[in-house]
Amino acid sequence: MYSKIILQKDLPKLVDELVNDHIVVAPTKAKNVPTFSEVRSSEEVEFSILFNEKLPMIPLKKIFLPSQQTVFKYSLSEGVTESCEELAARVAEKKILVFGASPCDITGVNVLNRIFHEYYTDALFSQIRDRTVIIGMNCLDHCYENCFCETMHSNDPKSGYDIMLTPISKTKLIAVPNSDKGKALLRTHGEIFQEVTTKDHQAYLKALEQKRLNFKSEFPVEGLASEIEDNFESSVWEEFTKKCLFCGSCTFVCPTCYCFSTKDNLSIDLKTGERIRDWDSCYYPEFALVAGGHNFREHQSQRFRYRYLHKFVDIPRRYNLEGCVGCGRCITYCPANIDVRDVLKMIRGVSN
Ligand code: SF4
Ligand code: SF4
Repeated sequence: MYSKIILQKDLPKLVDELVNDHIVVAPTKAKNVPTFSEVRSSEEVEFSILFNEKLPMIPLKKIFLPSQQTVFKYSLSEGVTESCEELAARVAEKKILVFGASPCDITGVNVLNRIFHEYYTDALFSQIRDRTVIIGMNCLDHCYENCFCETMHSNDPKSGYDIMLTPISKTKLIAVPNSDKGKALLRTHGEIFQEVTTKDHQAYLKALEQKRLNFKSEFPVEGLASEIEDNFESSVWEEFTKKCLFCGSCTFVCPTCYCFSTKDNLSIDLKTGERIRDWDSCYYPEFALVAGGHNFREHQSQRFRYRYLHKFVDIPRRYNLEGCVGCGRCITYCPANIDVRDVLKMIRGVSN
């Protein structure tokens, strides 16, 4: 059996070993913001977040799609001096390990991975993803009131991680590998792990059964895309538009929002430069503004509606997966108390 047992008290020891040959990314409270960031020792890891106190505010996407990233460099005399592929190769020199990703965040990365590969392979995203080992931390119950992961089918991913840690008692976790990289990692750090006993295995099955009982779907997502389309002209969009501040927070904290804009940073003598991509929000007025001054979503209500069309209509239709993982971050961090579940329920309740 490839699975192993690790004592909760040994998790810091494992992190301290992993930092020796990986860039380890884990939940922290750097600058008092719960986020995923690079740690140099277990002392920087916020273990309370791991055990589902709450999700880090900034999701895992920041590792694979940083908020600001150089996509190529150029000079006036030589043209492109460092291409996207060359930058990506440099990224690939580093081994990254994510420690403590929740099932919904793993699903979020899976969604982005598909989008960044389906019609065009994004070299930078792809290199970082390929070089990253993910150790997940299983959730056995809703982590907080805003979580609706079961509804969005994101709390039990079958792929996208290398090891899943599941608590089977107050002191023990079972580490179940899900890839060759995961199995190798358990072997390399073998002295920290123990063999699984029959009692441990039974406790694991019981924990999974409890998980199945704990998670309830809040509403069916089947048919949602068509219902949103049927209510394209609904007054519900306008109603929520009046409340929304168009601050964009919901898009930045969302694990599946990936829109970015590009800009050029030029040297002072204008001889060299770099093309940068940075996170953007479809709630901002300039987002759909094109050369010539035309704005495809000039009105706020169009922008408010667009995010729902993209997540709940376009992504499911185009990629055959949910565009929302139900993490609830957009609800938690919305200054206007807008709840995505309320919007969906009200849209569905409207008959034209
Ligand atoms: S966080 Fe809330 S107020 Fe801000 S853009 Fe999103 S829905 Fe609107
Ligand atoms: S839309 Fe909201 S609930 Fe859904 S994945 Fe994004 S932040 Fe999470």
